[in-house]
Amino acid sequence: MSGVFTPELLDRCISCGFCLPACPTYGLTGVEASSPRGRINLMRALETGVLPEDDPTVLEESSFCLGCRACEPVCPAGVRYGALLEEWRDHMWRRRRRPWRLKALLWAVDRPSRVRALGLPRRHAHATRRARGGPHLMLGCFERALYPEVSRSASRLAPELSVPSVQGCCGALHAHNGELERGNALARELGEALPGSIVTTAGGCAAHLAGVLGRERVRELSQWLADRGDAEPPGVSRSPRQRIGLQDSCHLRNGLGVYVEPRELLARVGDYVELPSAAVCCGAAGTYSILRPDDSARVLNRHLDEIADADLDVLAVLNPGCYRQLEQGVRRRRLRTRVMHLAEVLVGTTGAAPGP
Ligand code: SF4
Ligand code: SF4
Repeated sequence: MSGVFTPELLDRCISCGFCLPACPTYGLTGVEASSPRGRINLMRALETGVLPEDDPTVLEESSFCLGCRACEPVCPAGVRYGALLEEWRDHMWRRRRRPWRLKALLWAVDRPSRVRALGLPRRHAHATRRARGGPHLMLGCFERALYPEVSRSASRLAPELSVPSVQGCCGALHAHNGELERGNALARELGEALPGSIVTTAGGCAAHLAGVLGRERVRELSQWLADRGDAEPPGVSRSPRQRIGLQDSCHLRNGLGVYVEPRELLARVGDYVELPSAAVCCGAAGTYSILRPDDSARVLNRHLDEIADADLDVLAVLNPGCYRQLEQGVRRRRLRTRVMHLAEVLVGTTGAAPGP
């Protein structure tokens, strides 16, 4: 079956295997098919018709992959694995029955009016009716509903950002779950609704938007604050005795190469502790924790062990999916660590309740 993948993307892999140690699913199974190289070979077999599209391993591995893109920065051949995975899932999942929970999530964020409705009951950052020329703060879809304090904190840190109410979803959820074309269209619609620079508090949204609209238009909050170069950003609250760790956002780190900025900001407000697996996916991975809860929990466990060992006061996150995943994990383990978004840590807001 040819025409599923862009040939230049698929041809680039030289099968060197440098990516294997970086892959969390290969780390869990030790099985070649669960590695980036193994999955690219499955894609090639699908493309050339060696394997049919209903081959059980092809189906399983397109779903088992976290989509974390940890295989990209370590690849000497510059394989764009994230783009390959989007094409793979677009082909594999489009015509198949998908779980109702995934369909419901995609439906909920498919129209700006529905996204606005998600945030209505919550007090996210004050939004104005009209969009000026930018820069703009993006409210996100589920973040505005689940963690409204994040955009309020971001507004305090960056009061120069306007917050127009006319903004929908960036389309990352669609693009990563088998609806690539719709995901790209939603990103373009958001780009038209928010002309000029767009600043987001979600690493996954930043990477998807930058991929569609161009890097020059999109900034994740820590990048924006670092670019501004203040000696002291407005609204920052210090607590030097707090032990603060960080969970990277996979797509922010592996897709946009942003990981220094949040660490430098956190080191200004407390005692920064680098966790051994800070750069490794926490298992949230967009909809992964909903679609594959058992595998997601296996990926999360090592993070919870490290958080417990480091006896952190605060764990900072850069993405709403990681926020939910780690907040729930910390609560289940009854750890004393608070999970908070970077923006909340910087302004010293309460964030999530402690575990026990
Ligand atoms: S590191 Fe890159 S080129 Fe090497 S096997 Fe992995 S994806 Fe292929
Ligand atoms: S995206 Fe993550 S889980 Fe998937 S192959 Fe790459 S490193 Fe492994």
